[in-house]
Amino acid sequence: MFQVRGLRKRYGAQAALDGVDFTVDEGETVVLLGPSGCGKSTLLKSLIGLVVPDAGEVRFRDALVEPRTASALRRRMGYVVQGGGLFPHLDARANATIAARHARWPADRIASRLDALLQLTRLPPEAVNRYPSQLSGGQAQRVSLIRALMLDPEVLLLDEPLGALDPITRFELQRDLREAFSRLRKTVVMVTHDLGEAAFFGERLVLMRAGRIVQEGRFQDLVARPADDFVRRFVLAQRSPLAALEAAT
Ligand code: ADP
Ligand code: MG
Repeated sequence: MFQVRGLRKRYGAQAALDGVDFTVDEGETVVLLGPSGCGKSTLLKSLIGLVVPDAGEVRFRDALVEPRTASALRRRMGYVVQGGGLFPHLDARANATIAARHARWPADRIASRLDALLQLTRLPPEAVNRYPSQLSGGQAQRVSLIRALMLDPEVLLLDEPLGALDPITRFELQRDLREAFSRLRKTVVMVTHDLGEAAFFGERLVLMRAGRIVQEGRFQDLVARPADDFVRRFVLAQRSPLAALEAAT
């Protein structure tokens, strides 16, 4: 689905991507993980052609993602930007259906697609008339997800879709999302900085540090066979409530 080779991107003196190689296979859920500033969002944006690399290449189903091809390829991908990116002056329905309206779908097709996605994401139907500022964090994330799914994309790219939610909302949305992904059988690339969330979603975890991939594998591999001391510290730093209790007593 994606082939990334030798990807590099600098912002001034800062290397956001410092030689990244990885692939995403059809149907899998890959989780990009790592501390803030390690290049997760930059890598995700490169996949969809929103960041043009200084060196290296991205291929989407063998097509080179470059400025000339990016906008056509982007229509085949669903992307949720970090923070959700809902337009504040549009209500949830208008936000969710923007791509379908742009593609000039007839109104009844848009309405039935929206209905199906409301069910899939468990967004209460009455929420579609509210503006983003009138939605709870979890509802807003569900609207962003509906917007990304509207045109039935071949792949979903999600940048911290569960960030900034309270623990209970997050827990519920994690469960609903995972169920939705498995029902849709979509290829998903998801960013998080939370190891527990990564383990819950990802068949394959890709751990980054300072613009590079330090280790790829299953959650169990990262825990049992950390590639270096950074991986060990990253795993240990994710304190579960039970581990915290243990440390305190
Ligand atoms: P992450 O998503 O892992 O937190 P990012 O990919 O957003 O990290 O950023 C990686 C690095 O590149 C950071 O140091 C960030 O400040 C820098 N960076 C990202 N985007 C830009 C930009 N548009 N202009 C300048 N620096 C940027
Ligand atoms: Mg980011």
